[in-house]
Amino acid sequence: MTLPQIEPPSQALTTLTDDERLFSESVYEFAEREIRPLARQMDERSAVADGLLNKLFALGVMGIEIAEESGGSGARFFHSVLAVESLSRVDPAIGVIVDVQNTLVINAVLRWGNERLKHEYLPRLASDTVGAYALSEAGSGSDAFAMTARATANGDRWSLTGRKLWITNANEAGLFIVFANANPDAGYRGITAFLVERGWEGFIVGHKEDKLGIRASSTCELVLDNCQVPASHVLGEVGKGYKVAIETLNEGRIGIGAQMIGLSRGALDYAIAYVKERKQFGQPIADFQAVQHQIARAATEVEAARLMVYNAARLRDAGKPFLTEAAMCKVFSSEVAERVTSLAVNLYGGYGFVKDYPVEKLYRDAKIGQIYEGTSNMQLQTIAKQILGS
Ligand SMILES: Cc1cc2nc3c(=O)[nH]c(=O)nc-3n(C[C@H](O)[C@H](O)[C@H](O)COP(=O)(O)OP(=O)(O)OC[C@H]3O[C@@H](n4cnc5c(N)ncnc54)[C@H](O)[C@@H]3O)c2cc1C
Repeated sequence: MTLPQIEPPSQALTTLTDDERLFSESVYEFAEREIRPLARQMDERSAVADGLLNKLFALGVMGIEIAEESGGSGARFFHSVLAVESLSRVDPAIGVIVDVQNTLVINAVLRWGNERLKHEYLPRLASDTVGAYALSEAGSGSDAFAMTARATANGDRWSLTGRKLWITNANEAGLFIVFANANPDAGYRGITAFLVERGWEGFIVGHKEDKLGIRASSTCELVLDNCQVPASHVLGEVGKGYKVAIETLNEGRIGIGAQMIGLSRGALDYAIAYVKERKQFGQPIADFQAVQHQIARAATEVEAARLMVYNAARLRDAGKPFLTEAAMCKVFSSEVAERVTSLAVNLYGGYGFVKDYPVEKLYRDAKIGQIYEGTSNMQLQTIAKQILGS
């Protein structure tokens, strides 16, 4: 059999185009310069340092997919993945702020917003307004569509009542995507997404959680006390909020994969530097084959996770199906992050266990990857459904 003479694919999955490489490197350099010196203090204080959000806006990472004429960077989803990875290599708490802004909030407004909403909010999201995405409630996490928040039509307004829990960026956000059920009799087909501004009547940002990791990223409760929302602020269609949620979260979890690979690379960077420097038995601990193999295995796992995350993101940008790949990359990269950060703590020995050294923070930060934007069990359920066709 003769095979047709075709050019082999010219690029590896991790080969970046010039603009991707420049973008990724410039975000990483920014993170080294502006975030690394503040990371420990932000973790201790459970807050983003003053002025840092403004610098993230100025850098162009808060409106990556927003068109340049609306003040954004006019780039692709893959650039969001690169930005989240580069930031998370230094501080995963800052990585998730940028992740939610781009892969959930802006993504949803771009896809589901009408021209008026896009015109009103995209320039603000690109220039100075942090966004948040409010789906979960105390009683509905994995079973998100069992939400009890209600939306009642009232002339040219909607009135929202209920409570949302675990809302990332809520402390800083000016704009919230809030999900509430407008027709409980229709079950999940009543769920509707609304764009709600901070400060509107009946909208209250409540208790801020005291967390294990990613502490500089705020996570708050929202109280909707007859919150008044103009009818024009429905995102998508009434009763189609479940689609908004499913589709944005499918993409958002690639961003969490990016956070996890960035975090893992950060932990590995520290571990590699430390084992070369730390001496026991008269030699650097990097000379022990057991340590070499541990580092080699961790690097292999990080590479595999990176390939999975990049592949899912590239599929998404190519307009190809990516549901299974997105779920797989989140499950795997979050498990890798837990293992690699745990190894980094081990290789630092006692120093790994104290806050004077950076790896215990990354170990704490890693845990969230298996929980938010769909727990690992829920990702495995999605993968199984696709594979088994059930
Ligand atoms: C730091 C942080 C930030 C967050 N940010 C946001 C945000 O910005 N916006 C937002 O809307 N939400 C956010 N969340 C909420 C997050 O998405 C939920 O916590 C998550 O989806 C899990 O829901 P739950 O906490 O109710 O756990 P549960 O759903 O109660 O799950 C508990 C356990 O049961 C397992 N389980 C549940 N159902 C099944 C099943 N059918 N099969 C097998 N196992 C199952 C789960 O895997 C898990 O291990 C955030 C959470 C945290 C902690």
